[in-house]
Amino acid sequence: MQLETKVKAIDCLHFINGQFVESQNKKTFENINPATEEVLGTVSEGGKEEVDYAVAAAKRALNGSWKKMTLVERSKILRRIGDLILERQEALALLESLDTGKPVSLANKIDVPRAAYNFHFFADYMISVGTDAYQQDDQAIHYAYRRPVGVVGIIKPWNLPLLLLTWKLAPALAMGNTVVIKPAEWTPMTATVLMEICKDAGVPDGVVNLVHGFGPNSAGAAISEHPDVDAISFIGEPSTGTAIMKSAANTLKKLSYELGGKNPNIIFADSDLDDVIDTTIKSSFINQGEVCLCGSRIYVERPIYEEFVQRFAERVRELKVGDPLEKGTDVGALVSKEHYERVNSYIDIAKNDGATIVTGGKRPEGLTKGYFLEPTILTGLDRNSRCVREEIFGPVVTITPFDMEEEVIMQANDTHYGLSATIWTNDLKRAHRVAHQIEAGITWVNTWFLRDLRTPFGGMKHSGIGRTGGMHSIDFYSELSNITIKL
Ligand code: NAD
Repeated sequence: MQLETKVKAIDCLHFINGQFVESQNKKTFENINPATEEVLGTVSEGGKEEVDYAVAAAKRALNGSWKKMTLVERSKILRRIGDLILERQEALALLESLDTGKPVSLANKIDVPRAAYNFHFFADYMISVGTDAYQQDDQAIHYAYRRPVGVVGIIKPWNLPLLLLTWKLAPALAMGNTVVIKPAEWTPMTATVLMEICKDAGVPDGVVNLVHGFGPNSAGAAISEHPDVDAISFIGEPSTGTAIMKSAANTLKKLSYELGGKNPNIIFADSDLDDVIDTTIKSSFINQGEVCLCGSRIYVERPIYEEFVQRFAERVRELKVGDPLEKGTDVGALVSKEHYERVNSYIDIAKNDGATIVTGGKRPEGLTKGYFLEPTILTGLDRNSRCVREEIFGPVVTITPFDMEEEVIMQANDTHYGLSATIWTNDLKRAHRVAHQIEAGITWVNTWFLRDLRTPFGGMKHSGIGRTGGMHSIDFYSELSNITIKL
């Protein structure tokens, strides 16, 4: 069976100084639908020239009407952006699904509502933010004065394109910055529509700019090298983070990094197995496993290991893989041919390393086109296998038994990554004890993906630098000056 594109997608232009524009040299590249391998449309390919133009517009806009707006006026604009995202929910969900291959039902349930909430949350939060103030006896008072950082470069990945862009854009705008955005080359559409939404919501020209293109020797590198970009908010792979850090070093930019993960999901024998399985299905395979927080290394205490593997595999085999636009699809297509081949290469590595493929590991029967892979469970792998150590970022999990608490903590931490972890146990003391020893920026106990946007979000080790969420975002997107007044 070959799927057909049932809807018209959009051609994507840059958005600079309030206008949609082509590249100076008219260069474009094709945007491919990963579920059908058909061309969805063209994308303008930007480079240094377009980035220069966008950064100049952003720099000018820093001191224009944007600067004169009150906090309340800016908050109203953020709220309106959130409202407009919800008004255009169906169209945005469809474009997100076409671009990424994710089920449209998922985009409707999570990506788009959460993108709107990112704006609504920061619209409220920004109004309540204070600064430090200290009285030093009768000698002096000190207070901190907050101002924007300046021009912020936002460089994005492809897995949750709209959700993650809004997670950065909302607090950047809340604090009065101007931005130049570089969406991932594989998923340009919803970011482009968001530019129109920003304009409709009253964001002044030049405050929000977007340049499409690639990373090295292209728009991404041009942003990270640009002397007038003051800060970079980057989400993507650690190796890209290294490249950006090197080019940003010349102009000492402020950096916020959210990088990859190889997250442990630790299941103790005293946990509620029904809940564990329901949630582990999601934490393993939601969005085709292409979520940085997915728990791709599952560790199960030996007394329940066999039962878990059998019951989990049964449920995984029931997942419906196929047309992302069809109601009832659980797992869509991987984002691109390149990524599909990369994920499949790990299945070959697993076979070479002597893994048992409990289920999956191949293209679903009947789907001749599109980058589809059955949700895959691997067992029997040594801790040194690349499948256990490296981020696969697809619908592939490993399951490993353990006997001792210390042993599983050691295995969970045996990685360069430190983004998130999940612990399943009904023993409260153990939950705290283990959580305090796991090297992860975010640890869930008896749940997964439950977020409160006020809490710190980010990774340790090679999974990130800094935290976002609530006050952490406000601090990154603003500069504090301390003012001391002698009494
Ligand atoms: P990537 O690093 O390949 O690309 C991310 C962005 O960086 C793209 O827009 C790309 O064009 C750009 N880029 C690439 N090279 C560049 C360079 N030299 N200079 C400037 N820009 C450059 O990542 P990806 O494949 O798009 O995304 C997947 C990765 O993102 C995974 O590792 C995943 O775990 C991570 N991720 C992390 C989080 C988090 O919150 N921690 C969230 C989502 C995704």
